[in-house]
Amino acid sequence: MRAAVISDIHANLHALTAVLADVERERPDAVWCLGDLVGYGPRPNECCRTVRARADLSLVGNHDLVVLGSVDVAEFNPEAGRAAAWTQEVLDDDSRRFLAGLQPHAVADGVELYHGSPRNAVWEYVLDAEAIQAAFSSSEAPVVLIGHSHIPIVARLADGDLNAAHAPEGTEGELEGGRMLLNPGSVGQPRDGDPRAAWLLLDLDEGRASFRRVEYEVERTQEEIREAGLPEALAERLAFGI
Ligand code: ZN
Repeated sequence: MRAAVISDIHANLHALTAVLADVERERPDAVWCLGDLVGYGPRPNECCRTVRARADLSLVGNHDLVVLGSVDVAEFNPEAGRAAAWTQEVLDDDSRRFLAGLQPHAVADGVELYHGSPRNAVWEYVLDAEAIQAAFSSSEAPVVLIGHSHIPIVARLADGDLNAAHAPEGTEGELEGGRMLLNPGSVGQPRDGDPRAAWLLLDLDEGRASFRRVEYEVERTQEEIREAGLPEALAERLAFGI
């Protein structure tokens, strides 16, 4: 069983298309999406349609829930709030229905999947050792997948020892009798200083996780952000991966 794991697409269709082309070359058995299909970016409906067509399973994220009106937009900074309001206006009925039918956590093939964390599936950022330890304690599966922070992370717990690190391109995680917590990073708005779109290939038979990055035409998404009248900072940050 090999799964391609994608997360935090944020309505960046060019990044999503490039990632899925890379995914197809690996011929995975399943594609799993950890949520935040929309918000920040200019192509929400196309991204919802694409994930719906290709992913075997998708979670809903905090941005999706804000756009649906299930969560208060006051939780957001002004730029995220403006983008959420714009997305609410342009989101079509099909996309809305699709997002409204998703959950922020799921279990698939013995793997636990969360948008945020096992403690708080919608909102918690798992970035430090305390949060990573709590994520292991609050879950049971040998492999736990999280998104939300836009930072690719590999953490391994074996014999009580926790090892966690940022996972740049080429990082390989090995299960080897322990447990793994993995964040694939973000497809549409990476924040680890590498502007390339991120995804994760998870091989459950081999107990191995491979962190991947894919170039895409950042300028095209930036142009679309400007044409939509979304905040300029949302275009600029894509060039730097911040
Ligand atoms: Zn996100």
